[in-house]
Amino acid sequence: MMPDIRRLLLVLVVALIVGLMSGHVFPLLVLGLLVFIGWHYRALAGFLNFARHDAEDNLLDMPGIINELVREFELMRDSHQQWQQKLAAFIKRFEEAAAALPDAVVVVNESGAIEWANPRARDYLGVEWPRDGGQRLVNLMRYPELTKYLRVPMDNQTEKVLEVVSPVDQNRRLEIRINRYGDAYLLLMARDITEFYLINRMRKDFIANASHELRTPLTVIAGYLEAFDEDVEHCPEGWTPKIVQMRQQAARMQRLIEDLLELSRLESAKELENGEEVRVADMLATIIREAETLSGGQHTFVKQLDAGLCLLGDQNDLYKAFSNLIFNAVQYTPAGGRITVRWYRDQAGAHLAVEDTGEGIEEQHLPRLTERFYRVDKGRSRAKGGTGLGLAIVKHVLTRHRARLHIESKLGKGSVFRCDFPPQARVLHPPSGERAEID
Ligand code: ADP
Repeated sequence: MMPDIRRLLLVLVVALIVGLMSGHVFPLLVLGLLVFIGWHYRALAGFLNFARHDAEDNLLDMPGIINELVREFELMRDSHQQWQQKLAAFIKRFEEAAAALPDAVVVVNESGAIEWANPRARDYLGVEWPRDGGQRLVNLMRYPELTKYLRVPMDNQTEKVLEVVSPVDQNRRLEIRINRYGDAYLLLMARDITEFYLINRMRKDFIANASHELRTPLTVIAGYLEAFDEDVEHCPEGWTPKIVQMRQQAARMQRLIEDLLELSRLESAKELENGEEVRVADMLATIIREAETLSGGQHTFVKQLDAGLCLLGDQNDLYKAFSNLIFNAVQYTPAGGRITVRWYRDQAGAHLAVEDTGEGIEEQHLPRLTERFYRVDKGRSRAKGGTGLGLAIVKHVLTRHRARLHIESKLGKGSVFRCDFPPQARVLHPPSGERAEID
């Protein structure tokens, strides 16, 4: 039996005996009960004082349910304290790790307000925690692209990468990466890329300057070689084939320099904002005519062009990219092969697919084809007059148009080079729905 019940029974029995002896049973039973309740009330008041103020003075050491309660409470308090200590140590470790991070980190909530930032965020972004907690991020970092991104509802936000100048230090370049996480939070990480940016700029400047410097002397040499060619009868005997070879090599070097300059220009060019309306089907028809001349009737050309589908882009750059792909198909497809050029649209956007039944490319080469000077067979490419820069130019032109190059190929069977343009880059002309095919 519980000690409290035993104690209650004892009080009632004593009250009953005294009541019977004195002839006042009921009042004495009530008195006994009151004494019992008062005693427990005092014990409970002592426990409350102990729970609130940790004061043990009024804590009655009484067996029974209240004592159990005190013990349970003490156990819970100890484990709570241990848990709190663990949490405090964890938060301290997390804060130390966040402070040691070489990158700035800012957490932004659904309404664009700053929830937390590490110390590096102050040096890179001018965001100081806890001073700026609750402030809207766009009030502290004024980048149009960031403002535009934060306006998009969180459910539609995908990862975003921006390259910007630090708002607190004009000499610092930052790469800002924004990711959505949890239910409704954005994690913004800023990395210092100043060194990488400077080295890259040096590399670009070097290539552009070297190409520029080489262009003029080469033009002079090529000019004289041309003059020799026109004046064959005055050439020393046996020199004609040598001059032809020199002219060919000079022309190759000129193409190389032009392509290098083109690449430098594309690398420094910004992503296209609002391009002109480009009538792609007409452009492709012109390129295909040139390709037919290049082919000399050795290939069959198939055209499937959506005449109403236009692009917002750069006419000259797109011409360069598309002609590179179609001329490559001619160069790398043996006589008798078929080249199919398709310009079409679907839900994912607009697409140009150049398909050939040529020699194809081994899978291991595919990821590297758009690297500068990467060629599957260097000797063959050179013999065909290739610079090894064509696909690098294609890739850069497409990147400027927010498009991607997709390559599929089977050795001995042929290849498909497909440019995928996002839906916002396309224009339908004449209006949507009316499609015209040129064939
Ligand atoms: P190149 O001037 O050598 O043609 P590109 O950058 O245009 O340079 O192409 C890189 C390499 O990709 C080529 O050397 C060739 O090996 C391969 N390639 C490009 N297009 C095709 C194609 N249609 N079929 C087979 N191989 C191709």
